[in-house]
Amino acid sequence: MTCTFCQIIERKIPADIIYEDEYVVAFRDKNPMAPVHVLIIPREHIAGPLAFDGENSELAGRLIAAAAAVARQEGLADDGYRLVMNQGRHGGQSVFHVHLHVLGGRYMKWPPG
Ligand code: AMP
Ligand code: ZN
Repeated sequence: MTCTFCQIIERKIPADIIYEDEYVVAFRDKNPMAPVHVLIIPREHIAGPLAFDGENSELAGRLIAAAAAVARQEGLADDGYRLVMNQGRHGGQSVFHVHLHVLGGRYMKWPPG
């Protein structure tokens, strides 16, 4: 088992888990880019957004729904937040277990870097 995020799900390495349900786990990013920076991951190991298909795409919706629950829990509902899912080198992906970034607590610039 070499996937860091699978190890977080299995409680083999520590993380600040703030939400979980049958399908997803959410924890604080160890290198936060905003006052609130949470990662939401499916319990199933999926390499990245490119690996979503007709069989597993329901989990993409589960990630977004969990992000809404986390946003409410973290007080982001009124001012808003940004969701980011990186794929591959140009996307800036560094962990190859798909994850949805929830960023909030400050104004987000557009376009992103
Ligand atoms: P990405 O660059 O989209 O693949 O995002 C990976 C994110 O995972 C980065 O923001 C890292 O700071 C974060 N990260 C990596 N390892 C851990 C960990 N063990 N606990 C919490 N966040 C992590
Ligand atoms: Zn994994």
